[in-house]
Amino acid sequence: MSLKGKKKQPSSQSENNKMEKIVSLCKRRGFIFPSSEIYGGLSSSYDYGPLGVELKNNIKKEWWKEMVQQRDEIVGLDSAILMHPKIWEASGHLEGFTDPLVDCKFCKKRFRADHLLETKSIKPEFQPATSLKKDDNKCPECGGELTKVRNFNLMFKTFMGVLEDKSAQIYLRPETAQGIYVNFESIRLTTNKKIPFGIAQIGKAFRNEITPGNFIFRTREFEQMEMQYFIHPKEAAKYFEYWKKQRLEWYINLGLNRKNLKYREHQKNELAHYAKVAWDIEYNFPFDQSELEGIHNRGDFDLSRHQQYSGKDLKVLDEETKKEYLPHIIETSGGIDRSLLAFLVDAYTEIEGGRTTTTKSTKEMEVVLKLDKRLAPVKIAVLPLSKKENLEKVSQEIYTKLSQQYMCHYDSTQAIGRRYRRQDEIGTPYCVTVDFDSLEDKKVTVRDRDTMKQERIAIAEIMDYFINKLN
Ligand code: ATP
Repeated sequence: MSLKGKKKQPSSQSENNKMEKIVSLCKRRGFIFPSSEIYGGLSSSYDYGPLGVELKNNIKKEWWKEMVQQRDEIVGLDSAILMHPKIWEASGHLEGFTDPLVDCKFCKKRFRADHLLETKSIKPEFQPATSLKKDDNKCPECGGELTKVRNFNLMFKTFMGVLEDKSAQIYLRPETAQGIYVNFESIRLTTNKKIPFGIAQIGKAFRNEITPGNFIFRTREFEQMEMQYFIHPKEAAKYFEYWKKQRLEWYINLGLNRKNLKYREHQKNELAHYAKVAWDIEYNFPFDQSELEGIHNRGDFDLSRHQQYSGKDLKVLDEETKKEYLPHIIETSGGIDRSLLAFLVDAYTEIEGGRTTTTKSTKEMEVVLKLDKRLAPVKIAVLPLSKKENLEKVSQEIYTKLSQQYMCHYDSTQAIGRRYRRQDEIGTPYCVTVDFDSLEDKKVTVRDRDTMKQERIAIAEIMDYFINKLN
């Protein structure tokens, strides 16, 4: 929702192609499908297929492990999407969660005024309800005149219960954070946590974006992973720096190339209504350098507003001074869909002419998805060299055993080279090949996705081998 003061970078042809290739791979291999496709699709809505849901779950698992499981001072929450409508008054969303909208009077296309100015490298400083300056007041599609800037509220409205009048109106949450603030007091009392402590939540959020696009980068329904860290105000700068650093490291640790990541501080004129200080972690997407996650110092805006609107005392006791105060909040707010896209873009590797030289088909371009092992949707593929019954039997036994611990694929169709490449393309770190020698020596060949090194491993030791490699 924020206005951005940065300049958009033109995308090169090859970068555009990269995006197209990733979108096509996602559809072809079952990571992501356009939503409602048999009905012609629903614009900017996507469904995560069998591989996409695994990748998404693995990202969430890693975030939860880092933010909740491994930290004594952070606890988890799963709050409801539908909440009391007063929450959105208190949070400022009813009044301030808007984007500046203009329409073309001629072709009727709709644009975000701040985005139009950005593409012209102009700092987006304008007053809503006025027209853009004469030179800027042209439709980028047809050159037609644009309407005055209007503020458009991004919250989805719906009705609760049988009556469809104003009193029954509620909203789909545009962020998960508010569910955390309204549970702050209950969680503090039930867990006996002392300041500083955090509450983390993963969940769906909804925004009626004016210009969704760039695949899953900007959609109207998406998932967030947010953590609110409640602190004493005097420690705000210290914890802000701490979380800024931690969050960047999380992406690097899971395989994103540091060169593709950047910090960007929000200018005063683009700060959201709640933020005192805000930094984005940006990723160099093929279409633009854009936000992955925001780190915000929200001050006491949220708790003071909820205290005022609910009438509940949300203050805590300062053990040193024995005075009561409202905790301040440092927020880390990331999107799962955006980080999933960044992980895909970073992992996508094309090898011209292929990596192996033993068969004719390897002259083709090979695609390897070099995802971190922790994120890879499938960890191990079990591949019998032929469909002979005795080989399939041993292979099935290995598959059954390994799939107790790991997400595995079983594939016995086509030549082994093709099967390896199919697994490389979806990022499977290991392939286990069962051949005729396996029946004699009770060993299988394990092939590594990245090095293509092959090792003979005893079937009896295969589970220990993978526990060592994957855990
Ligand atoms: P933008 O400026 O790109 O609209 P924002 O500053 O409004 O983003 P926040 O309100 O800080 O975003 O939301 C936190 C995170 O949620 C973002 O960093 C992003 O990863 C994710 N997010 C926000 N809006 C969307 C969306 N429409 N589609 C997908 N992810 C989103």
